[in-house]
Amino acid sequence: MNTMRRMAMAGCLLAGGVAMGAEGFGIKPGTPELPGTPWQVHDGTRPQPRVVETGGAVSVKAPGDAKVLFDGSSLDAWTTDGKPASWLVKDGILTAAPGTLISKDEFGPVQVHIEWRVPAGRKVDGQGGGNSGIFLMGLYEVQILQSNGNKTYPDGTAGALYGQTPPLVNATAPQGEWQSYEILFHPPVYKDGKLAEPAWVTVIQNGVVLHHARKFLGPTKFRQLATYPDQHPEKGPLHLQWHGDPIEFRNIWVRPIGGYDEEG
Ligand code: MG
Repeated sequence: MNTMRRMAMAGCLLAGGVAMGAEGFGIKPGTPELPGTPWQVHDGTRPQPRVVETGGAVSVKAPGDAKVLFDGSSLDAWTTDGKPASWLVKDGILTAAPGTLISKDEFGPVQVHIEWRVPAGRKVDGQGGGNSGIFLMGLYEVQILQSNGNKTYPDGTAGALYGQTPPLVNATAPQGEWQSYEILFHPPVYKDGKLAEPAWVTVIQNGVVLHHARKFLGPTKFRQLATYPDQHPEKGPLHLQWHGDPIEFRNIWVRPIGGYDEEG
């Protein structure tokens, strides 16, 4: 990748997602190699995930013990960068707007249900036009992208552990249709001040497994190799990413995952 292209990519992210033309597809980006693979971070020569047609979103009502983060009515459970939540709510739908949407509650091991869609008719190309993301603990991104008929570097596809691991398959429904994610996340475990077990995640999109107990290399990075910090919180808020695109959301709930044999 030449310097201009690198600048364009960085600019794309900083500017919040200007369409760049199937961004990164087919391009070796000159970023660090991902350990244990022949590929680099955001490697456009990595195999594209196989496309799977699905029945679309699997909408699940919040169970009785869930913490409902968005039921179509209010953003009481959220802030925007610590200030009153400023994303838009209309007709039961939450629409992304400038700033990061941050849950007031913090979570460790957690089950997340979330539904999202990229509005129909919106111009989408590569990472541009249809991009958001769910950051577990505010640190680990599961990518949201309009990936139906839209190629990009595989570790930036919908459901990718961004910059690390592409989804097993591309299960993204057509643009304009609702998508569902079920996410089961476990934070990293530190013992005696050292990483003992990396964070891991299971992701199901529209009823199809994208990752199963897949380890994160560390908190999400752009164009860099993710590694674990020396210290790590046990809990963190859920973040929804603003990437310049009015991605829509509905029915967001979480359940902290408890241990076995706990008193009820
Ligand atoms: Mg994203």
